[in-house]
Amino acid sequence: MAVPGFFLSYTKLSTFRRCRKQYWFSYLSGQPRPPDPPSAPGIVGKAVHRGMQLLVEARNASIARAELELYLRQPGHEVAGPGTEAYENALRYFDAGVEVSAAIPAHTTWVERDLRHDSANGITFFARVDRIDLLEDGAYQAIDWKTGIDRDDWTDEQLDIIHVAARSAAAVPATSPMTTMAWNLREKIRNPEYVPRTRHLERDDAVHTLRWGFAVAETMRSTTEFQAMPGNHCGYCNWRAHCPEADMAARASWEAPDIVAPTEEAEATPDDLD
Ligand code: SF4
Repeated sequence: MAVPGFFLSYTKLSTFRRCRKQYWFSYLSGQPRPPDPPSAPGIVGKAVHRGMQLLVEARNASIARAELELYLRQPGHEVAGPGTEAYENALRYFDAGVEVSAAIPAHTTWVERDLRHDSANGITFFARVDRIDLLEDGAYQAIDWKTGIDRDDWTDEQLDIIHVAARSAAAVPATSPMTTMAWNLREKIRNPEYVPRTRHLERDDAVHTLRWGFAVAETMRSTTEFQAMPGNHCGYCNWRAHCPEADMAARASWEAPDIVAPTEEAEATPDDLD
């Protein structure tokens, strides 16, 4: 079924999965997005992405590192400012990214690109791509830098959306494969055996992603109820101040029954839970 004028991105899909109310606020309410809540991981992620962008544009790691440090010193960034563990982590993640970048045999590199694939049925696949390389051997590769904790299955979907958008925007020949990677710089430091999440993708895989995306987009578009689903993610939600359900969930409790291990004399039955 056609879904007119609908855009699908990884961020939009993960918001839909995480909390329908947050999805409504962000994509349907029309309200201006409140500022990001102060979050050390969020500030570190933005700082490292700025550094990685400048690393390519200035071709100079010292300049890029200075830009990263400048960003972290700014007002509002105190939770990740100098003297904090987050500040030191940001520098370590950046240094790891410099090492990864130096090993890429790139002929041409693009950074921080907003890419899209407009389908004939009205669905746009959108991806903000941290880095795309045309490699010296003629192959294409896209990278998403990560500095937090990820779910691999969701990351795969992100990499597949990047593939579709990048294949269109970069006019990758139909016969050329493309590699998309999620490089988790935090994990690279923590685990010497770490390998990035990698997808080797052909044109037919992009067709599969389109079909998958059309079906998911239809589910999202036809949803009419947007229940709050509070959880740890409320601490990072821009709409927290507008959402009484988050507080209600924090106060709510239920009286869990005392469940004892069954014995031969008294086996637990479902009635024990009444
Ligand atoms: S505060 Fe929590 S429950 Fe409320 S919209 Fe945000 S994520 Fe959803």
